[in-house]
Amino acid sequence: MADDAIRCDACPVLCYIKPGRTGSCDRYANADGKLIRIDPHVVLERAVERGDTLVPFLEKTSDWDGTLLNGERTFVTAIGAGTTYPDYKPAPFIISSQVAGVDMVTVVTEGIFSYCGVKLKIDTDRHLGAECSTVRSQGQAIGHVTTSEYGSQMVSLGGVRHLTGGTRHEGTATCDALLNLCNGKAVELTVDSGAAIVAQANQPPIFDGVREERMRVGCGSATIGMFAKQWFGKVDEVVVVDDHITGVLSEHQAGKLLGVPETGIKMQGRRTTPGRYFQVAEPGTSWGGTNIDDPLSVLDPFDPDVARPGLRLLMVSTTGEHRAYFELDETLTPVEKDLPEPLARSVERIRENCEPALCTVLFMGGAGGSLRAGVTENPVKLTHSVGKALTHVTCGGAPVYVWPGGGITFMVDVSRVPANAFGAVPTPALVAPIEFSLRLSDYAALGGYMDSVKPLPSIKREDETRRRISAHANNPWPLAPERDRK
Ligand code: SF4
Repeated sequence: MADDAIRCDACPVLCYIKPGRTGSCDRYANADGKLIRIDPHVVLERAVERGDTLVPFLEKTSDWDGTLLNGERTFVTAIGAGTTYPDYKPAPFIISSQVAGVDMVTVVTEGIFSYCGVKLKIDTDRHLGAECSTVRSQGQAIGHVTTSEYGSQMVSLGGVRHLTGGTRHEGTATCDALLNLCNGKAVELTVDSGAAIVAQANQPPIFDGVREERMRVGCGSATIGMFAKQWFGKVDEVVVVDDHITGVLSEHQAGKLLGVPETGIKMQGRRTTPGRYFQVAEPGTSWGGTNIDDPLSVLDPFDPDVARPGLRLLMVSTTGEHRAYFELDETLTPVEKDLPEPLARSVERIRENCEPALCTVLFMGGAGGSLRAGVTENPVKLTHSVGKALTHVTCGGAPVYVWPGGGITFMVDVSRVPANAFGAVPTPALVAPIEFSLRLSDYAALGGYMDSVKPLPSIKREDETRRRISAHANNPWPLAPERDRK
């Protein structure tokens, strides 16, 4: 090793870095013999009061001008702050400030997360793949399809098994996908025996090359309930085709209460409760998340003792994307006709009530491990303090949800975290910012590194790479009293 190389000990890789070069993660460099963190350290400025959302996030991004910071309006994030690794040393920044007359401290560190992943919510009815199907990126298994939710397909990506338990390629592909998703970039994913999608935080999903427009208004049964009154008198029967619960107006309780007469309709699938059918078709990417292109394929012949020629039938999907109108001929066979204007308006109303389809990316990380030792000499006390809500956890200043129970397992919506806040190291693991804010007296009580506490005004132009940006207008101020964070 060249004599002038220096060793970076900010993660387990322990790179030797020559002058003018960067380490394997491109996050640290050797600048004239000094180890520097390349990315700017981010400080949030409280630009607007809550409720005033006129200043878009990042609009006020500017280079640091060296002004001393105002404690009520400035929050030191962990983005670009550096890590505690190998974890016995105090966090890179332990900052005291006064908030509403209370002495507070914020402990700031970038965490190296081998135990982390992404929960990806994809607003669509289209069938992504069977539950537990493997999800791949760059051909490598990086996660699986998990339980779908109301109007959304859910995917669980990453986790320690994919990051560390498979081949090096699997770990690297997993880390790349997580990093890109968390930093708001588009990622191509394929599902075994399922769809190919492009997912990107806060953007519509793209399914097999088709951009999804809207999520469903509800299941088939809910759609009947919502729109029954608008259909009453304008059509004799409505079937809302849905992969999960297909609704039939004349049999549904909503139709019964309105006095819709029986029509003699016969459905395929399994009738559960009146007007609600399961499994009318196989899952797919067509009508209502089923595999059917011909809606009549979910019907059996009408009951000749009840049905009559001329009976009017509307079939529609849960997004209004698919619709067809039929009238029965003399043989009680449905014949497709143009959609009458009043029914077209009702279909348009379904579409109007559908929200735009988006991908939502939640980063989920376990902070209950060694990084706690950078906060306190007695790590479990930090866990207890977070559990009792004495310590407030944020990720780049963004609010997080901390799971109840053991450890410090948190989730954050990456779209509320400043841009490019996430990094990676080739162990492989993700690097994510995390801040712990608490009363100074509570910090002392949990065995904090009181000798390392520095007042907020000490953060000034000591480092050219520090940067201040406006806080996300929709995020609660991270140092606000708890009652104001709701
Ligand atoms: S991978 Fe990055 S953080 Fe880890 S030792 Fe190398 S330069 Fe440092």
